[in-house]
Amino acid sequence: MEITEVAEDVYEIPRSGDMRVPARVYASEPLLEKMREEGQTLEQVRNVATLPGIQKYSVVLPDGHLGYGFPIGGVAAVDMDGGAISPGGIGFDINCGVRVLRTPLDYGDVRGSEEDLVERLYDLVPCGLGKGGYVRTDRDDVDGILERGMEWMLEEGHATEADLEHCEEGGRLPGDPDAVPENAKKRGVKQVGSLGSGNHFLEVQRVTDVYDDATAAAYGLREDGVVVMIHSGSRGLGHQVCQEYIRRFEREYPDLVDSLPDRQLVYAPIGDDAAEDYRRAMYGAANFAWANRQAMTQAVRRAFRELFGTAEESVELVYDVCHNIAKEETHEVDGERKDLLVHRKGATRAFPAGHPQVPPAYRDAGQPVLLPGSMGTHSYVLAGGERSMELSFGSTAHGAGRLKSRTQAKKDYTAGDLKQRLRGEGVYVKARSGATVAEEAPGAYKDVDEVVRVSDRLGIGTKVARMRPVANIKG
Ligand code: 5GP
Ligand code: MN
Ligand code: MN
Repeated sequence: MEITEVAEDVYEIPRSGDMRVPARVYASEPLLEKMREEGQTLEQVRNVATLPGIQKYSVVLPDGHLGYGFPIGGVAAVDMDGGAISPGGIGFDINCGVRVLRTPLDYGDVRGSEEDLVERLYDLVPCGLGKGGYVRTDRDDVDGILERGMEWMLEEGHATEADLEHCEEGGRLPGDPDAVPENAKKRGVKQVGSLGSGNHFLEVQRVTDVYDDATAAAYGLREDGVVVMIHSGSRGLGHQVCQEYIRRFEREYPDLVDSLPDRQLVYAPIGDDAAEDYRRAMYGAANFAWANRQAMTQAVRRAFRELFGTAEESVELVYDVCHNIAKEETHEVDGERKDLLVHRKGATRAFPAGHPQVPPAYRDAGQPVLLPGSMGTHSYVLAGGERSMELSFGSTAHGAGRLKSRTQAKKDYTAGDLKQRLRGEGVYVKARSGATVAEEAPGAYKDVDEVVRVSDRLGIGTKVARMRPVANIKG
């Protein structure tokens, strides 16, 4: 495959065949090499460039790896006029995302209590099916959540105004319960406030490095401060929405499916009923994911109050980002302002300072970007960078990115050894199963520091602070 370096950390795959635009790979040499080794990631980013209405280039970020049709770590922006929406460009876990909470505590305050912390959080935040989380919901509540997301949580007394202000889109998109399949709703009823399996986690972290004092101060982060990172999405509900709409698209557009370089790219033209129903359902699932992360936030506030006596309002939301979503945004393309539908799959919005969609408190600093690493390495807080609008439709990476398949990781690691090693490094892990620990071993992920270096060097998301895990629960 022809691929050329056009600037430092910027590679381009020129247009060929049915590609409507070139493909762009933002990576360092070693990270590009990882994508090459994996095989189809670059093929996928090229396939995405065939999407109707796609603008500028199909993008893959430094954490990019193989996904369903579209790579994880990919951005595809299409024209609202003449473009198409593709579930594969959003992902099965609709509005999977990350939030970070700051606590008034320092590392010294929690040191020695990790075991209690992990146990209490594990009790309050269920991982799997059926048990129900911190917020009990019935079928009608689910409709309210699908329609209003964080606003429903506020009305019900599970969130503050400040929580809403610190979510991307205020924690609500125009979702429509009527567009969400009944089976999806059923799956959602007992899942509000539950973590989900495998890669999802709730992690207590210690801020170890601050790179940008002014921005860290604006975000309320300080060295040695304790923060909590929550990574979860829309659970079975979102998965069911994605699955049922893929099936509907395949049914309604059989000729299209046959003509695609990969049937997993299936899409519907914006404006068609199928496309608009999916969009309203997807927004509903996004609202569900916000409510889910918010319910876990309430559980964290309670656990910290019980264990450390901290007031619940002193555990504040720094920010909440979506990394599996498509949204309408205005971007400049060839000197023209255009309304685009920006698909971000395993990609984080990273709007720069001054952008009107950055909350007022952070307007001069840029939007916080929350970038997890692994349970044994660093995670980062970045700030949306000056060049993100020009290079990546206001986006950057969403994590370190997977390096080894789950199967391979289970062969290479054992849970007992890993947990013991991590304990020696001051990290307490509690997981539903040993297999999860092995699958999520730090070695199963790429080098997060390298991913962040690329983002920072390109100026799409710049370094603010870095954290280390202290306690981690996963599904
Ligand atoms: P994804 O949304 O693609 O499943 O995962 C996002 C990112 O989370 C991964 O690329 C990985 O870097 C990171 N990650 C996975 N497990 C953990 C964990 O237990 N702790 C932290 N801090 N990051 C993790
Ligand atoms: Mn997810
Ligand atoms: Mn995710």
